[in-house]
Amino acid sequence: MLNIRIEKTVTPKELPSADNPLLFGTIFTDHMFIMNYENGKGWFDPRIVPYQPLSLEPSAMVFHYGQEMFEGLKAYKAEDGRTLLFRPNKNIERANRSNRRLCIPEIPEEDFLQALKAIVKIDEAWIPTQEGTSLYIRPFVIATDSFLGVRPANNYLFIIILSPVGAYYPEGLDPIKIWIEDEYVRAVKGGIGEAKTGGNYVASMKAQVKAREEGYSQVLWLDGIHRKYIEEVGAMNIFFKIDGTIVTPELNGSILPGVTRDSVIELCKEWGLPVKEIKISIDDIYEAHSKGLLEEVFGTGTAAVISPVGQLRWKDHIMKVQDGGIGPISQKLYDTITGIQMGRIKNNHNWIVEV
Ligand SMILES: *Cc1c(COP(=O)(O)O)cnc(C)c1O
Repeated sequence: MLNIRIEKTVTPKELPSADNPLLFGTIFTDHMFIMNYENGKGWFDPRIVPYQPLSLEPSAMVFHYGQEMFEGLKAYKAEDGRTLLFRPNKNIERANRSNRRLCIPEIPEEDFLQALKAIVKIDEAWIPTQEGTSLYIRPFVIATDSFLGVRPANNYLFIIILSPVGAYYPEGLDPIKIWIEDEYVRAVKGGIGEAKTGGNYVASMKAQVKAREEGYSQVLWLDGIHRKYIEEVGAMNIFFKIDGTIVTPELNGSILPGVTRDSVIELCKEWGLPVKEIKISIDDIYEAHSKGLLEEVFGTGTAAVISPVGQLRWKDHIMKVQDGGIGPISQKLYDTITGIQMGRIKNNHNWIVEV
């Protein structure tokens, strides 16, 4: 049990008005959770303080060597007023897997959950209530030693900030266009692709910019060695429905193991749909499309939940899916997962944790 010290803000901000669309990741709540780590001492001084700038030395290791881990999950306001978290233990386990890979000290699971609940509770009034809205939770750890030289740091900060977010697609699910990247790569097996860390994102920006210039909103990554096997999309995992079977790339060490990905696989199994985690090549996708068997494509991630893909571009080939519209499985998964998250649909999986 953490003994969390609480210092409340004396200048609370105005809550965002229900009429304004909440742009993802632009508004932050009144408070943040913060806890220090020092080698030999462990994690100490857990506290909730007013949301404020950090004071770090310019030599802080995170700025130079990128030793940092982050997570992303959401809190939802149910119609009956309860505040709900969706599978937070999956995020906590993954955070510690990322920490191990990045030589960052682990955070005891029960302390992590306690911190999540405590910060969400304090800023509960910030959870928007309209359909599709939620409070995005961003836990992260940074290396703070004042030191130029490459080694794991001795000092860290664990911080949790909160941001109210609107419906990702206010007009309903909106299919995206995806660029299949065959020059740049995001990650390779043995690298840090399966850890949630900033380094993977900076590696992705060049291709993202290129895709945007071509009119595509997201990049689909191929494997770093053969530029052939499908990996994932931007900040989402990817699924295909080919001739009645749902397929997604198997977790191979360079793909981020998404919580939404896992939930989609569980639901498909529950519904009796054939679902396979396998190696899928871009040639398989191209062939399925040519034969008219590529029935649906969708991305999965906490931010958008389910993101239908209406078009894929690979070299000079443009592959349209569902005529650029939304497939029935994508829609059903979206409705079911958001229904569970908002407490409307009862789930048999113990996916909901009340704050
Ligand atoms: C966070 C993330 C995902 C999606 O994971 P969820 O747990 O479903 O939100 C997928 N790919 C990458 C690279 C990510 O960082």
